[in-house]
Amino acid sequence: MNVLNKKSVEDIAVTGKKVLVRCDFNVPLDNGNITSDQRIRAALPTINYLLEQGAALILCSHLGRPKGQVMPEFSLAPVAKRLGELLSAPVVMASDVIGESAKCLAASLKAGEVLLLENVRFEAGETKNCPELSKQFAALADVFVNDAFGSAHRAHSSTTGVANYLPAVCGYLMQKELEYIGGALGNPQRPLVAILGGAKVSDKIGVIENLLGKVDTLIVGGGMAYTFLAAKGNKVGMSLQEKDKYDLALELMAKAGDKLKLPVDHVVTQEFGPDGFNKVVARNEIEESWESLDIGPATRERFAKELQGAGTVIWNGPMGVAEWDAYAQGTIAVANAIVESGALSIIGGGDSAAAIKKLGYSDKVSHVSTGGGASLEFMEGKELPGIACLNDK
Ligand code: ADP
Ligand code: MG
Repeated sequence: MNVLNKKSVEDIAVTGKKVLVRCDFNVPLDNGNITSDQRIRAALPTINYLLEQGAALILCSHLGRPKGQVMPEFSLAPVAKRLGELLSAPVVMASDVIGESAKCLAASLKAGEVLLLENVRFEAGETKNCPELSKQFAALADVFVNDAFGSAHRAHSSTTGVANYLPAVCGYLMQKELEYIGGALGNPQRPLVAILGGAKVSDKIGVIENLLGKVDTLIVGGGMAYTFLAAKGNKVGMSLQEKDKYDLALELMAKAGDKLKLPVDHVVTQEFGPDGFNKVVARNEIEESWESLDIGPATRERFAKELQGAGTVIWNGPMGVAEWDAYAQGTIAVANAIVESGALSIIGGGDSAAAIKKLGYSDKVSHVSTGGGASLEFMEGKELPGIACLNDK
């Protein structure tokens, strides 16, 4: 599958048509109040384009995990309200997903109007990709637009199944993910440097394996580095490590050769907490009762050097326990180096994106992916069903 060859909203006639748009409105809620409307704002370019083109919009999304039951606390009603405010136009809310309310409102919908269906996961068939439900979604509209990159790794009725029965294209948010991540993996500006971090090797085995074949340099930091170091025979003390992954780590290191860069010094502590005493260990020998929670200053410099002159950078996973200021320096150093490199930069992973945001760098990097699980699977080289189902150009 060539992800760069998928049709987008601009490749299909939508004027006067009813368009079903799968959005990612899975917003954080606190007592029914939306605590961040970022995901709603992210859907606006697609929604506004379709409205300008004179389409009638039927929007749908999941929210939380109601597991096939109607649960009022997972209603999309707060999203309809917020979206209406952002569009300065009314957003009609159906009281069900695919029942009488949804069908009647969709049938009478006119160009320029916006209807939001209830949480698609109120329907038990949704997560089973049930063909009956997919057909019912398709019957509401003339065209399907998938703009929910964050759900693209799930083969559900509203993300994938519905595309069997309607012309299917991607929205702008999805298209941006495909262009940046797909472009970086497919035909990158070189050198291509990947930086992987985070807690565990086992979370990202697939990513490491896939990237290894594509990158010029693979930097590994964060907790996952200690499985590699320990497998090589270095003393890592109490640092995170997965002993059952030693063989895999050795295999990956053999395959990677000089491409793979590991930490050479560490910030260690005897107390896993934000304000415990810590010190720098200047070599790969960590004493028994000590645990590394960040890469040390020499490693920061080395990693920053590797990033200089990069053409493309893919970053997934912090270099240490960046949630705590005392162990955020490695992650900050890498973020600075990415920005200074001037490379095309793609940030995937929730914690890495949070670190970038906290530093105020969201606009200084090329692309912060909106989908945690989806971007991981994309970087693993897997075919995502919500993308594969879209029409080719
Ligand atoms: P992302 O969300 O960007 O993909 P991950 O979820 O894989 O990143 O990893 C982030 C987590 O890894 C954070 O909770 C962080 O505290 C933890 N982490 C990073 N380095 C270490 C370390 N050296 N020891 C323990 N935990 C670490
Ligand atoms: Mg995470």
